[in-house]
Amino acid sequence: MRNIVLFGPPGAGKGTQSVLLVDHFGFVHLSTGDIFRANIKGGTELGKLAKSFLDSGQLVPDDVTIQILEDTANGHPEAKGFIFDGFPRTKAQAEALDRFLESKGQSITAMLALEVEEEELRQRLSKRAETSGRVDDADPLVIQKRIDVYNAETAPVAEHYKGQNKYQGIAGMGTIEDIFGRLSSALEGGV
Ligand code: AMP
Repeated sequence: MRNIVLFGPPGAGKGTQSVLLVDHFGFVHLSTGDIFRANIKGGTELGKLAKSFLDSGQLVPDDVTIQILEDTANGHPEAKGFIFDGFPRTKAQAEALDRFLESKGQSITAMLALEVEEEELRQRLSKRAETSGRVDDADPLVIQKRIDVYNAETAPVAEHYKGQNKYQGIAGMGTIEDIFGRLSSALEGGV
């Protein structure tokens, strides 16, 4: 069982690449952003709580996010491995994920971190706004907020995995196929 953290700033291509990786390697894709958006759409209590955070580009509080991640993962006892996309985004989440997996006799195999320049991120997110219907893609101020939150709170999570010798940087520039090729090589190369 391999459990991968697919890491990177907003607009790095985590969601796009996750779909391809699921197809090719058979992981279960677990995106906390997707879970929150589905709950907002469905008008659930979780959706009502999460909406203002997503709309403004802030992080949903750790306790709520960790609980929903664990509940969703527990709903997939058949999984042969997970791709965690958009989680963990804080040190507390990374530590909680380690504890959660450890309680099941598992662990994170690797963090694959997509590295993309900031200007490219802004361009990709503005372009995605034309089709995603995401409120948080449509406003340049919210895009900037998400990038700032990433730099302040999420980027340090890489240190957690570097300390465990599990960090692998992947160039996130170029075409979707190029990037998928790099991720696949990393996974086929024994990650
Ligand atoms: P994403 O789809 O990963 O870009 O996430 C969209 C938004 O969902 C983020 O800007 C946050 O508001 C929220 N979100 C997603 N994942 C997390 C997380 N692990 N912790 C806190 N908030 C999250």
